[in-house]
Amino acid sequence: MTRIFSGVKPTGHLTLGNYLGAVRGWVEVDQHRADALFSVVDLHALTVEHDPARVRRLSRQAATLLLAAGLDPALCTVFVQSHVDEHARLSYLLECTATDGELRRMIQYKEKSARALASGESVRFSLLSYPALMAADILAYRTDEVPVGDDQTQHVELTRDLAVRFNQRYGHTFVVPRATRPPVAARVMDLQDPMSKMGKSHESGAGIVYLLDDADVARKKIMRAVTDSGQEVAYDPEAKPGVANLLEILAACGTGSPDELAGMYDSYGALKKDTAEAVVELLRPLRERHAALAADPGYVDGVLKEGAERARGMARPVVDAAYRAIGL
Ligand code: ADP
Repeated sequence: MTRIFSGVKPTGHLTLGNYLGAVRGWVEVDQHRADALFSVVDLHALTVEHDPARVRRLSRQAATLLLAAGLDPALCTVFVQSHVDEHARLSYLLECTATDGELRRMIQYKEKSARALASGESVRFSLLSYPALMAADILAYRTDEVPVGDDQTQHVELTRDLAVRFNQRYGHTFVVPRATRPPVAARVMDLQDPMSKMGKSHESGAGIVYLLDDADVARKKIMRAVTDSGQEVAYDPEAKPGVANLLEILAACGTGSPDELAGMYDSYGALKKDTAEAVVELLRPLRERHAALAADPGYVDGVLKEGAERARGMARPVVDAAYRAIGL
């Protein structure tokens, strides 16, 4: 059976981008068609300035949201990365497989380190080594497929390179995985800055719809989305990125392609209004289930404990084999 691994970082509240670009596909497709593992990858949240209590709270909230979104522990494995030591154990071996040059070429490293330096913060070494840990997350489970948004495909490419290199040098140990992407909304853009993606750790929340935003807050954010000074609703990501983003979000919420939807509107206001309503309706059941699950912490704890045990059982033999192969 196909093995799938994917994860979400608890660096902020989960966004509409995380949901449309990743989580919804995990729920609707991946958990049904494969042996799938979904992780709240909390070790990755330590690569940037963080507050310990906040990370713990956000991890918990993210795990609860994954269950609220419809991940079913009877169908897939849901767990928190730091509960399974094998991730950190394998990460070191992959740091010893990767080169400094290839890690420095990662676009996310370049962008995030430049941002940190510009705001006077130091850059943690783990921001550079992050893709080795992500490769460990994936390779520890002999993963075949990694469903991710566009922003992560470069890291999955690197994971493939590391797996191939390790296998060639030390003997066949890892399955070489591949990235898969959702058909629409692979990249939801920030509503206030449609040239950058809607990312949960961005400073300003005005262009970001969080999954737990109140309906009115979400509506307002979408109604205030930046478009352009023109009038015509057309799907043109280059010339009209703000409008194209709204069309993609609306398409992802229902039926019809962004192009087809564009033909149905003659004003930006109407497009925004329908997009806002579609998003609010899409998120309503998720928010309701989140509230119910948050009121039952014992259940969530039980799911995460069982998930970690299952994940550990899969990862340990692979990581042990990698240690032997590399000469330890
Ligand atoms: P973030 O950038 O919000 O911190 P993560 O690194 O936790 O996101 O990624 C979780 C998943 O959500 C990944 O599969 C990623 O590709 C996807 N994702 C994140 N932001 C977006 C976005 N704006 N549009 C589409 N998918 C996204």
